[in-house]
Amino acid sequence: DISICWFRRDLRLSDHAALYQALKHSRSVVCVFVFDRAILEPLPRADRRVDFIHRSLAELKQALREHGSDLLVRHADACEAIPELARTLGADAVFANRDDDPAAIARDDAVAAALAADGRTLLTSKDVTLFERDEVLTASGTPYSVYTPYRNAWRKKLDPFFLQAYPVERYLTALAPLPPQPFPSLPELGFAPADPGVPTGMSGAQALFAAFQPRIAHYRTLRDYPADNGVSALSVHLRFGTISIRQLAQFAWADGSDGAMCWLDELIWRDFYHQILWHHPRVGQGRSFKPEYEGLAFPGDPQHFDAWCEGRTGYPLVDAAMRQLNRTGWMHNRLRMVSASFLVKDLLIDWRHGEAYFAEKLLDFDLAANNGGWQWAASTGCDAQPYFRIFNPVTQSEKFDPRGDFIRRFVPELAALDHKAIHAPWQARQLPPGFRLSHDYPAPIVDHAVQRQRALALYGKD
Ligand code: FAD
Repeated sequence: DISICWFRRDLRLSDHAALYQALKHSRSVVCVFVFDRAILEPLPRADRRVDFIHRSLAELKQALREHGSDLLVRHADACEAIPELARTLGADAVFANRDDDPAAIARDDAVAAALAADGRTLLTSKDVTLFERDEVLTASGTPYSVYTPYRNAWRKKLDPFFLQAYPVERYLTALAPLPPQPFPSLPELGFAPADPGVPTGMSGAQALFAAFQPRIAHYRTLRDYPADNGVSALSVHLRFGTISIRQLAQFAWADGSDGAMCWLDELIWRDFYHQILWHHPRVGQGRSFKPEYEGLAFPGDPQHFDAWCEGRTGYPLVDAAMRQLNRTGWMHNRLRMVSASFLVKDLLIDWRHGEAYFAEKLLDFDLAANNGGWQWAASTGCDAQPYFRIFNPVTQSEKFDPRGDFIRRFVPELAALDHKAIHAPWQARQLPPGFRLSHDYPAPIVDHAVQRQRALALYGKD
C-alpha cells in the first residue's frame, strides 16, 4: 500500500507526526509539497517567506534524496493537485499535520471530500502545537479565554509523553524510491528572490536553537531588551516547522531553569492563541474577541498610518521598531507590543490595519499569534487587563532601550543624540550641534498625553 505525506507547515524530516504515521502504516511513502496557487497569488512578487520556504524545501529535498527518495513539488491548486496525485500514484491515504488556520481547514475539508469520493482518506495528526483544540479546557469543559489559568492547566496536563519525539528515523526505509524530481525555481513560481536574512531549513533552525541554548537561562532578564540578543529568533522556524515544537519544549522542560520556564511560557502563549483561533475562528475574520468593542469607530488619520508604516512618527522607539520590521521582516516582541499599542491607542487607528500590515511584512506571520497579539494590544482580545492599560512610548523606550542602542541601529539620523535625548528629542534640553528637529528627524506627529485621553474616551463610551 502506497501513501502520500503532504508537507505544509512542517518542513523537516525528524520528529514529524504525519510522516511517522505514514511511514509506519504504509509500505511506500511519497513526500509531496504543493506551492498552492490560492496562497501565492495575493502575495507581493518578492516575498521573503516564499524564498524561505523555497530554500527550506531544497534542504528537505536533499535530505530525502540521501534516503533514495525525493520530494514531489507541484505548483497548483492544492485542492486539485493532492487528489490527482493520489489517483496517479494509487495512494490509499494522504497523511498531513493539522493546521487550524480557518483557510487551511477549508482547504483540508475540500481535499478530504475529493479523496473520499475516490475511496481514499486524508489522515491528520497533531504536530504544530503541544496541545490543540479541546485538549486543554476549563473544569466545566469550556475553552479558556485568559492566558494565566490556561497556562496553569496546560502545565498540569504536561507529561513527558507529550514531549516525546516521533522516531521517524527508524522507519525511513518505507520512503518510496524515486528518481530525481524537478524542483521549480522561484522565477518559475512567479517570484523574485527575496533574501530572508536568516538561516533557513532544518539546519538553520538547529543552528539558531544551539546558539540559544546557552542563553536560555538568561531569557527572563534579557527578553525585553531589543538591543540585546535575549530571544531565540526561532519564530519563523516554528511557523514553517523546520524545527519541532516538541524538541524545543522538551529542552526547556528538562533544563528547568527560571529562564527556560519563562521561555516555555512563550511556547504556551503560542498554543493559547492557536486554541483561541480554533474555538473562535471569527477573530481571524476581523472580528473582535470582545464583542463590545466590535463597532469602535477609530477616528485616526490615514496619513498617520503611512507615517507609522514607514517609521516616521517622531517617536524614536516606534520608528526604530517599524524600520526593523520593514528592513528585516522580524520585530522584537516588546516592540510589537509598543508599536501596536501606539497605532491603536496613540494614533487611534483601527487595529485591523496594523494586523494586516504585520501580516504582509512578518517572516513569522501566523494568523493565530498575530491576531492574538493585535487584539491584546487593542484591548479587544483575550487580555485580562482592561483598555486603560496604555503604553507610554517614551517611558517604554527609556526602560527597554536605556542606552538608545537599538534606536541608533535603525534610526541612524538620531545616532548623535545621547542616551537621555534619544527617547524624546523634542523634549531634550540639549541636541547635538547641527541637529534640527523636523528637518533631520520628524517632530512627534501626535501628543501622547492628548491621545491617551482620546483613547480612554473612545473605549469608555459604552
Ligand atoms: P522567543 O521570545 O524566543 O519565543 C519563543 C517562541 O514562542 C516564539 O518563536 C513564538 O513561536 C512563541 N511566542 C513568543 N511570544 C508569543 C506570543 N506573544 N504569542 C504567540 N507565540 C509567542 N508571533 C508569531 O510567531 N507570528 C506572528 O505573526 C506574531 N505577531 C505578533 C503581533 C503582535 C502585535 C504581538 C504583540 C506579538 C506577535 N507575535 C507573533 C508574538 C511574538 O512577538 C513573536 O513570536 C516573537 O517576537 C518571535 O521572536 P522569537 O522567536 O525570538 O521569540
